[in-house]
Amino acid sequence: MDRFSFSLTACDGAARTGVINTPRGQIRTPAFMPVGTAATVKAMLPESVRETGADILLGNTYHLMLRPGAERIARLGGLHRFMNWDRPILTDSGGFQVMSLADLRKLTETGVTFRSHIDGSKHELTPERSMEIQRLLGSDIVMAFDECPALPADRDRIAHSMRLSMRWADRSRVAFGDRPGHALFGIMQGGLERDLREESAEALTAIGFEGYAVGGLAVGEGQEAMFGCLDYAPGFLPADKPRYLMGVGKPDDIVGAVKRGIDMMDCVLPSRSGRTGQAWTRRGQVNLKNARHADDPRPLDEACGCPACRSYSRAYLHHVFRANEMISGMLLTWHNLHYFQQIMSGMRSAIAEGRFDTWEAAFHADRAAGDIEPV
Ligand SMILES: [Zn+2]
Repeated sequence: MDRFSFSLTACDGAARTGVINTPRGQIRTPAFMPVGTAATVKAMLPESVRETGADILLGNTYHLMLRPGAERIARLGGLHRFMNWDRPILTDSGGFQVMSLADLRKLTETGVTFRSHIDGSKHELTPERSMEIQRLLGSDIVMAFDECPALPADRDRIAHSMRLSMRWADRSRVAFGDRPGHALFGIMQGGLERDLREESAEALTAIGFEGYAVGGLAVGEGQEAMFGCLDYAPGFLPADKPRYLMGVGKPDDIVGAVKRGIDMMDCVLPSRSGRTGQAWTRRGQVNLKNARHADDPRPLDEACGCPACRSYSRAYLHHVFRANEMISGMLLTWHNLHYFQQIMSGMRSAIAEGRFDTWEAAFHADRAAGDIEPV
């Protein structure tokens, strides 16, 4: 199979399940993409990430262009070979992270100039350069270059930014060119303004992309506002193309987004939390730092099949975190990624069998029950 395609296999309400086919393998949707910022999902071997059930990883253009450099990765055979992950990779465009991380940013119609947060070196990102970097990396799913204002922002600022992003989407499409087997996704903007979201979706659909992202959410607006936008925004996008919600999120954000028609998501949360002693479980968040676990011989979650839960006690997980041992981040990241993928596979089965509402009710009931009682 040498081309990129998406097929829906079932819908239940607005929730959808299907498969994205790529030359590097299938992506089952709804899909959660672990984040491999600097060509690694921190604390995990790629084969372990695969064992958790991940079909695709996300790489960050901004980080990789600064270190080790896109041209260097290309010389070394591309990102898949460089990081030893032969399945699909999605790369972001760099736009969002330039805005959140870089110094001395200057935004013009052409693009953004900025200084590296690592060494102060000067760089430029434009739609054309972002497409070139993502091609050098060998990304399977390339994101259009966009600009995203932090919320809250006034309507004029959001409208101006969205229209600039639509002009950049057009330039991204032209610069991407004809690359069979690779996909370019457009990114809808428009903040929490319904008519601007619709205008953005129409502009993107007129250009035509292999998939569409809902951008500009999970930037500080809160879950209620985000769900409010997701009640209508996915419906503005073509039903036969994948819909990607960028940078989301916590387990209940993910479930609420899938319920509203989202097919793909990414977030650093499971790996980042894993390095700070935080576990996400079907019964909510568990803080392994807490002294209540020091004498607890039970697993983190007796129903979980991950190595951290199969072979180690809460007491051990507590100890290695407190002792600042590397295995702490390794085990908790594995558990968290495994749990997030369990949520995704649970939703895929439930949608396919037309019982999403029942699955969702059980998901919320388990969380409401809270963690097991201390020993
Ligand atoms: Zn586990």
